[in-house]
Amino acid sequence: NNTFNVEAIRKDFPILNRSVNGKPLVYLDNGATSQTPQAVIDVIVDYYSNYNANIHRGVHTLSQEATDKYEEARKIIQAHFNAKHAYEIILTSGTTQSINLVASGYKSLLKKGDEVIVSALEHHSNIVPWQMACEVSGATLKVIPMTQDGILDITAYKALINENTKLVFCNHVSNALGVINPIETIIKEAHKVGAKVLIDGAQACPHIKPDVQELDVDFYVASAHKMCGPTGVGMLYGKEELLNALPPYQGGGEMIDQVTFEKTTYAGLPHKFEAGTPNICGGIAFGAAINYMNAIGFTTIATYENELLEYATEQLKALGDVKIYADTKDKTAVISFNIEGLHPYDIGTIVDKLGVAVRTGHHCAQPIMDFFKIPGTIRASLMFYNTKEEIDIFIKAVKRAKMMLS
Ligand code: PMP
Repeated sequence: NNTFNVEAIRKDFPILNRSVNGKPLVYLDNGATSQTPQAVIDVIVDYYSNYNANIHRGVHTLSQEATDKYEEARKIIQAHFNAKHAYEIILTSGTTQSINLVASGYKSLLKKGDEVIVSALEHHSNIVPWQMACEVSGATLKVIPMTQDGILDITAYKALINENTKLVFCNHVSNALGVINPIETIIKEAHKVGAKVLIDGAQACPHIKPDVQELDVDFYVASAHKMCGPTGVGMLYGKEELLNALPPYQGGGEMIDQVTFEKTTYAGLPHKFEAGTPNICGGIAFGAAINYMNAIGFTTIATYENELLEYATEQLKALGDVKIYADTKDKTAVISFNIEGLHPYDIGTIVDKLGVAVRTGHHCAQPIMDFFKIPGTIRASLMFYNTKEEIDIFIKAVKRAKMMLS
């Protein structure tokens, strides 16, 4: 495989050179958003400098160039996720919109008596849209419970499934804890009763390369900004027949076939779900970000990140009074923790003064915090451009905060 040189990689990310509060930035909030390599920044600058134009509309050269690049990006995304067809990739504004697009369509496909299943480990964006769909349709929402280790209870899940189950939605990796969920089993079990499955890959995709055909997943969603791409763009993969059966999300330009005041017919995939002018530059940059990550290689990335995670976990535990939530090996490079007797927010504020960016709070997953009976956690989320030296700075900063606050 590739030889991995983290110092060379870091040179690709201009932001990693900056300082915060007079200290070199140690960016450990990658779960919230990842940083952007120069190769992706260059693509963004090139777009606005050289071929900014609206797509799918003009016969003029710039419009053709922009359209070609946008559709090329769709093919890069298709190849990355191994979708059968490029038109099964819908470009959206991000994971949240991708989920809302599907949930909104299911408002009219679900009916009273139907059941949908969500996991206890979800981000609010994979809970609230389904609650809204249930409210309108009369379907019932059920929850897969988890254990104290942050692991989904698959026995309980199997007991929840029955012939009324229409949909199951679950994240591939939990943003609050980093645990990798057994989505293969979740999908297989759901399919036994004909239920469809949506997997939220927002946190998985920066670390894992999913194969949607091998998974046989029905819908898979992700955001570019967590995978070295820009904000405001993401994707929805859906099986062709399911996307065809799903009503359109937004009406407008681009998504129609014929419009009269009596009746409108819709465009085919993917345009049916892409009303209005999309984030053209963002879509093209999303493709560039995927190319950048694949050039490093997801196996190389995982091996390196796992080493970092193990090192950081050991160092953190050595500080004492540390409670790590989901202290399992089966996770991506996330450590969600608390220090006994101290508020996560206070720790976050002090470590920021020392240049270290971590996330504190409920991580848009209040049910998980309620489960553990805590207000929130401190979350350090790593990416392949982080280093052992940065972990040392982080550990020192936490130690300092602990001393100051105890
Ligand atoms: N699901 C998960 C698991 C996430 O981590 C996030 C982002 N924190 C989202 C959904 C929402 O993604 P976005 O804000 O990019 O729409």
